[in-house]
Amino acid sequence: MLIDSYNRVVDYLRISVTERCNFRCQYCMPEKPFSWVPKENLLTFEELFLFVKVAIDEGIKKIRITGGEPLLREDLDKFIKMIFDYAPDIDLAMTTNAYLLKSTAQKLKDAGLKRLNVSIDTLKPEVAQKIAQKDVLANVLEGVEEARAVGLKVKVNMVPMKNMNADEIVDVLEYCKERGMSIRFIEYMENQFASKEISGLKSNELLAILREHYEFIDEGFDGSSPSHYYRMKDGYKFGIIEPYEDDFCKQCNRIRLTAEGQLIPCLYFDEALSIGKAIKEGNIEAAAEVLREVVRNKPEKNRWGGEEGEVSTRAFYETGG
Ligand code: SAM
Ligand code: SF4
Repeated sequence: MLIDSYNRVVDYLRISVTERCNFRCQYCMPEKPFSWVPKENLLTFEELFLFVKVAIDEGIKKIRITGGEPLLREDLDKFIKMIFDYAPDIDLAMTTNAYLLKSTAQKLKDAGLKRLNVSIDTLKPEVAQKIAQKDVLANVLEGVEEARAVGLKVKVNMVPMKNMNADEIVDVLEYCKERGMSIRFIEYMENQFASKEISGLKSNELLAILREHYEFIDEGFDGSSPSHYYRMKDGYKFGIIEPYEDDFCKQCNRIRLTAEGQLIPCLYFDEALSIGKAIKEGNIEAAAEVLREVVRNKPEKNRWGGEEGEVSTRAFYETGG
């Protein structure tokens, strides 16, 4: 079992399989980075899988594939199948912008993927165009329908922003509710790479909007999920991810692996250790030791909401969010 120095059990690994993306979301990657990581620096799926086996053997129980846009990486379904065949009971999920989902959902499901989180910030094509800087909405919505049709469980992530999609919070929630999909509103997290124009809604502002339309009760946190949950009268639950809140990190159970093999203990900080050399040499024990060290060095809290004006220097498209 992996336990950090604050007694938190770390059993959740997020793997960013590529930093590349086919969207240019204002809050994440508004401009193409100066240079991409060269393809030869990426860990192959075989190498990533070597590490996945180490991580599972050390106590990881949940794996999420993310990016960048994970569906841009060829043969992703084969990687998913490797993980599934090794540990069918692992909670195996993926976060995607869904643009390429229509043609890939069935393959992903057949490979053993269980759940999907899809980012839907708006239901208006022109707003989607503004956020992602590309005409994306039709593909995204078709991708979601296909994923549901093949039997993948879909959750939705929405980042509410002032003067952008704040007026659609209820519409997006209703879209999800009608389809039996849960929704999590993610507070915009400031980072050096995002467009300076973005101003996110804080949870109290979001709740005020929702209270004009619904009655709901505060259900608090559920296990190690970062979401603060609320339940409506008809039983529908929605979540809010509030990284600026003081107790956000108390239950954190996750570490992140980048496509280059950097193992990151916290989404906020620059700290990371590479598993690349150990994995390329096939040195399982050395890779396990890097993993244990990263867990030992996991910081107590992020610094969102800390000193005035502090923003993260981590790119979401690199860490996978
Ligand atoms: N491309 C995929 C997608 O968009 O779902 C996966 C990677 S993306 C980095 C993962 C999640 O991070 C998405 O739900 C996205 O909305 C969220 N995200 C990205 N930048 C963010 C920011 N600055 N604040 C809050 N959430 C952010
Ligand atoms: Fe791409 Fe996802 Fe970042 Fe948008 S949030 S730019 S889809 S990685």
